[in-house]
This record gives sequence, structure tokens and C-alpha cells, in this order.
Amino acid sequence: MARITLDKLAHSYKANPRGPEDFALKEIDHVWRQGGAYALLGPSGCGKTTLLNIISGLVEPTHGRILFDDRDVTRLPTEARNIAQVFQFPVVYDTMTVRENLAFPLKNRGVDARAARVRVEEIAQLLDLTPHLDRRASGLTADAKQKISLGRGLVRPDVAAILFDEPLTVIDPHLKWQLRSTLKELHRKLDLTMIYVTHDQTEALTFADTVVVMHDGAVVQTGAPDELFDRPEHVFVGHFIGSPGMNVLPCRVEGATAYVDGAATPLSRSYPRLPDGARIELGVRPEFATLEPGGEGLAVRIRRIDDLGRSRIARVELGGRTIAASVAEDASFDGERAVLRLDPARIHIYADGRRVAGEGGAA
Ligand code: ADP
Ligand code: MG
Repeated sequence: MARITLDKLAHSYKANPRGPEDFALKEIDHVWRQGGAYALLGPSGCGKTTLLNIISGLVEPTHGRILFDDRDVTRLPTEARNIAQVFQFPVVYDTMTVRENLAFPLKNRGVDARAARVRVEEIAQLLDLTPHLDRRASGLTADAKQKISLGRGLVRPDVAAILFDEPLTVIDPHLKWQLRSTLKELHRKLDLTMIYVTHDQTEALTFADTVVVMHDGAVVQTGAPDELFDRPEHVFVGHFIGSPGMNVLPCRVEGATAYVDGAATPLSRSYPRLPDGARIELGVRPEFATLEPGGEGLAVRIRRIDDLGRSRIARVELGGRTIAASVAEDASFDGERAVLRLDPARIHIYADGRRVAGEGGAA
């Protein structure tokens, strides 16, 4: 078991990379603490698999180092790293039984046959594979095969970390929830570092204590799910997390007031140090943008109101942009004109996509 440190890690698949656009991973500094349950979350193509493969040793990085505790493993092969990796699609030996498949990583490392048997049965139990233990893997469904892959990742008790690369892609939706809970339970029992890659925010937020958000080859924020929700450090995080995501509106800031399309909205802090010439934007989640029939606020036009059962979400237009907003339970509207009230304490200000800390006020 180990703490895993990424030290100025960068990777290009090109032989002679020139600019940053040639790098699948830009410079990453990050520490995965021993025993953490991490999700690595980001859209397709942002570099998640590349990063996992560098940690496991399948890919050698162009720049930087990987340390397990204080040991530099950057040039060590996969076998020397004590890492288990579960891929997106099942990797099983069709001619072996389920039991033999699960035992394979243990047999390979010379684990005593009796100890291996006990461990295999324990893992099979956790994954509901017990009834299939003595069947050949070839006849099983894709679901069952992927469970075998998961089991092979989980079976070694000595690993430094287990890396899961979108492991539930081929799993039937109703089984996904159950398997994710199983993984979470295993994490609690085994005191292992787990890194779970996904592009699905629900998967990430339910599995992980700490979510690492990637965008375009870089880590843009690391935090607990509620931190990512409450305080997105990058507009991408605000937008990617949440449903609907954070509204991002171009604005101008003077003192503790933002002007959106010329209309003033109060802020709870002032921003005296916004960089000159930067793109300034206001971010506010739909949960903190309330649509009301009248009163103080930004004048908007209602485009649509959707009833979600427990709440209503409106799409409104302001200065040619669409904004998602909450609608109070008892509010009713006459025509399409309405007022949008933003909670000043829940507004963030961004310069060129990065959150700027305000002065005065709370937080
Ligand atoms: P993700 O897992 O987040 O979808 P990847 O790590 O697979 O992202 O890919 C990151 C970027 O690197 C993408 O632009 C992808 O096209 C590129 N890439 C991935 N693997 C290779 C490879 N073997 N050779 C060249 N380019 C690759
Ligand atoms: Mg991938």
C-alpha cells in the first residue's frame, strides 16, 4: 500500500511534441493518499485512461515522475508496481473456469493454494459469482465476465492501489448501482487506494470521497463532492457537475455589483483585483437563481418551465442567453415576463474561467 505522487507529470503520444496542444496530459501535480476512494471524472478524450496507464506502468510519461511513497517507479514495468487495473471491457480467460480466472493473479504470485481458495471464495461471494465458480467463463454474459474482471482486480490483498477504468460500461443499468455499492463497501473493508475513472458525475459523486476533475489534459479541481458543487474553481467544473449545471454569464464587475447585459445584480463581496483584459463571468447554480413574478432582480423572459415532481426548473432568456433557474413552489406567472433573483452569497466570479476570491463578506 502506498501514497501515489504525480510530480510534474506530462504526456504526449507524439515523438516530437511542440506546443501544449500536442500533450494528452498537461503538467499534473497530484497526491493520491493511501486508502482514498477517488473518482477521476471528465469527458471522453480528456486524458483519464492515459493517466491511469501511466500510474500502472502501461505508458511511460514524456515528462515528470511517479512515486509510490518515496520510491520512484516512473521507469518500472507494471509487474514491479503492485497495481491492479480493471479495464472498460472484460479481460478473462475463456477456457478457464470462473474460479481459475479469479485465482490467476494469486497463483501468478505464488500465493499458497489454500489461502488463495479462501480469498477467491470471499471475492466471489461479494460479487455474486459463487454459483458460477466452477463454470467455464466462455459461456457467461458480458455482465458476469466483467464481474470476473473486477474480481481479478480485487483478489490480490497486497496491491498498492486498484485502478478502475470505466468498469461498469458494459454492465446492465440495474446492476450498476449494486456493483458500485459493492466497490464502495470493499473500499471500506480493505483500506485500499481506489481510483475509479468515469465520465458520469453520478457514478463519481456516489463512489468517491474525493473527486478529481479533468478537462483537456489537466486536473482542474480536486475536492469532496459538496466542494465541487458549492465552489467550482473552474467554469468547466461548475458546468460539468450539477444537473442542470452552473449558469455562466459574461458580466462586468464594479465594487460589489455585477452587471449582466447592463442590468445590476448585487454580490456579497467585491473584486478589486480582477486582471485587466480577462474574460469576466458570473457563475450561479440554478438552485440559487430563483424565478419570481416581480420585485427586485434581473428582468428575463420565460422560455419554458419543466415540472420535475419535487421542483420546477425554468429556462429563461437574458440578453440572448438561456439560464436555468428554480421556481418557487407557489409562484405563478402571467405571460413570459418575470424577474430572476440571484443569491448574492452563492455567486462566483471567474476571470478567464478561473474562480477569483472576493474581498469582504463571507467565504
Ligand atoms: P479518456 O480516457 O479521458 O477518454 P484518453 O486518455 O484515452 O482519454 O485520451 C486522451 C487523448 O489522447 C485523446 O485525444 C486521445 O485521442 C489521445 N490518445 C489516447 N491514446 C492514444 C494513443 N495510443 N496514441 C495516440 N493518441 C492517443
Ligand atoms: Mg478512457
